[in-house]
Amino acid sequence: MFLIDFFRHQQTCTHKHVAIDQQYSYCPDCGELIENEWFITRCACCGIKQKAIIKNGEIIPVDNFCRNCGGHEYIVEKLEKINFIDINYAVLVKTVVHEEPPMEDVTQCWEEKSTNIPKLLQLFR
Ligand SMILES: [Zn+2]
Ligand SMILES: [Zn+2]
Repeated sequence: MFLIDFFRHQQTCTHKHVAIDQQYSYCPDCGELIENEWFITRCACCGIKQKAIIKNGEIIPVDNFCRNCGGHEYIVEKLEKINFIDINYAVLVKTVVHEEPPMEDVTQCWEEKSTNIPKLLQLFR
């Protein structure tokens, strides 16, 4: 198992104290919402699972060639849930989740108010 942070170069916090048994949890060091994402690699030729590592920000199999068929091509697969078998093959990527404020709802609310006001004024005239 490898614990590697994609954003190591941009951020000082590596979120190493984030619990990895939940998909989402808050980092106790910096307060960011962190999503734990697990990835494995598979041989594109025979489909066998290959141990994944992260090199230069890319998820790649630890072996250059497939141990089963000698193939060089591979696919990266995101796991919905980690289990005890896959944990030996998987890499964990800790992604910061940025919650976006609902800007569209706020805009709609203001538009409704601004169109209602002239109508009301006309009634009173
Ligand atoms: Zn953190
Ligand atoms: Zn293969």
